[in-house]
Amino acid sequence: MNLLLMGLPGAGKGTQAERISGKYDIPHISTGDMFRTAIKEGTPLGKKAKEYIDSGNLVPDEVTIGIVRERLSKDDCKKGFLLDGFPRTTAQAEALEQMLAEMERTVHFVLNIEVAREELMARLTGRRLCRDCGATYHVIFNSTNVEGICDKCSGELYQRDDDNEETVGTRLEVNINQQQPLLDFYQEKGYLCKIDGSQPIDMVFESIENILSNLSNSVVVSS
Ligand code: ADP
Ligand code: ADP
Ligand code: ZN
Repeated sequence: MNLLLMGLPGAGKGTQAERISGKYDIPHISTGDMFRTAIKEGTPLGKKAKEYIDSGNLVPDEVTIGIVRERLSKDDCKKGFLLDGFPRTTAQAEALEQMLAEMERTVHFVLNIEVAREELMARLTGRRLCRDCGATYHVIFNSTNVEGICDKCSGELYQRDDDNEETVGTRLEVNINQQQPLLDFYQEKGYLCKIDGSQPIDMVFESIENILSNLSNSVVVSS
């Protein structure tokens, strides 16, 4: 199954991606995670991406498209993939169409997780991540058994540098402006499925499972 996960920052893409990727055994490809790893490792990609990410702006299309192209060509994507946070611009969506066409593949479903903007600020400023396994938590909505320690691997939790009020404001503006034409693009193609992301985490996942099982029964899903 070839899936795209869309939604504004804080909508729950990463949280649901962990679950979807586990259940359907497809790699979770997050451009944000790839940039953060590159920044941590100090690679040339990390150096290019850092100033954009720190200010809450988008990394230029040619850089982002390049890393996705490289990642999708890896063997583990042959069985399907889950793209989280890509595409975020019309140019990226067009590039993705072209890449997939070259590989004689297509997108099957685009899941758009919808959450009211007022809720997103609280989600993003309370978000915490595990330094070791990357699991996502929230200080109130999805807290760990022991404060500051990952339930899955006992790693230390941290807050992303860009999850502060000022940068979150810019990210929401930038993403709201870019999002609508993309949704229209996928709506026209008939791929778009809307998910009510304001529900609790487990219920959002149930909605996604329902949609995927109904739709994958009605369409022949091949790679
Ligand atoms: P969130 O989980 O809050 O939606 P991400 O982890 O997906 O954020 O992205 C973090 C940052 O990485 C973005 O603010 C942006 O600077 C950069 N980024 C991620 N994906 C893309 C993309 N598809 N195009 C351009 N920049 C991106
Ligand atoms: P995104 O990848 O779309 O930016 P995340 O999955 O990182 O979003 O979720 C943002 C924050 O909101 C995290 O702290 C996460 O634990 C929390 N969260 C995710 N889904 C829900 C939900 N359905 N209800 C409440 N909080 C949620
Ligand atoms: Zn962990």
